[in-house]
Amino acid sequence: MITTIDKRFIAGLAYLLGLRKIGAGVVRMGPGIPELQWDSIFRYKPRYLITVPSFLLKMIDYAEKNGLDYKNSSVVGAVCIGESIKNQDFTDNILSQKIKERWDIQLFSTYASTEMSTAFTECEFQVGGHHHPELIITEILDEDENPVKEGESGELTITTLGVEALPLLRFKTGDLVKAHYEPCKCGRNTMRLSPVIGRKQQMIKYKGTTLYPPAMNDILNDFAGISCYQIVIHSSEIGLDEIIIKLSTENNDENFVNEVRDHFRAKLRVSPKIEIVDFDTLFKIVHHPNSRKPINFIDLRT
Ligand SMILES: [Zn+2]
Repeated sequence: MITTIDKRFIAGLAYLLGLRKIGAGVVRMGPGIPELQWDSIFRYKPRYLITVPSFLLKMIDYAEKNGLDYKNSSVVGAVCIGESIKNQDFTDNILSQKIKERWDIQLFSTYASTEMSTAFTECEFQVGGHHHPELIITEILDEDENPVKEGESGELTITTLGVEALPLLRFKTGDLVKAHYEPCKCGRNTMRLSPVIGRKQQMIKYKGTTLYPPAMNDILNDFAGISCYQIVIHSSEIGLDEIIIKLSTENNDENFVNEVRDHFRAKLRVSPKIEIVDFDTLFKIVHHPNSRKPINFIDLRT
């Protein structure tokens, strides 16, 4: 396994300790730098990577540019953190499809946060992250802080059971999820969490439609012509939410912008403002050196 473990990245430490417990060999790695990743892969032959999934695309780009035989490397799968790779019905989302089209490896999704000090991790059947009831109490609550009905989405609220220094009591994660209770084929009977539908505070109200950034990410990831993007939300003069999509493309014509806008209208019933931005400028903003994940969403609402 290769995992990042640096710059206060607490999950890296958790993965290191867990992997050692199951007897796996672990290669510690810094973030970014595809060249170092590939060098380590060819040198130490890990079978799995622990990674932000969009970084896999950067690794594939690097491998293709530099003629590395990545398809025949030792890697058979990746444990994906920080970004969703599944739709609500547990099929692969666009990001996941894009990775697998180019590099046929298994992708496992996880959901976790530093506050929880545990993770909801998929089993081999990949139908949601299994709950560990001995580590954490979960509640899924509606706007009035009542438990939602089975099958409905609500805010994941957690109480930690194993944390000593900073235990949390009914901590609201801000993440909207659904719970799945039917028994899993793997034999575990624990509740499973859906992919995150969105962040509660990132909810956008647009002309009567309610939506969350992941749905927009999906549309933008679908366009091969978009090399980089950022969604910016701000308040209009009259206090309504406005959506601006900044994107880079080599397809620099009016038709392309219209095509993207039409796709938004068809799928989400919203018509955002679209701005074409020079790739180098936008790439620097999205892949900020202080951020482990690409910054694809900025909220400027007042
Ligand atoms: Zn299972």
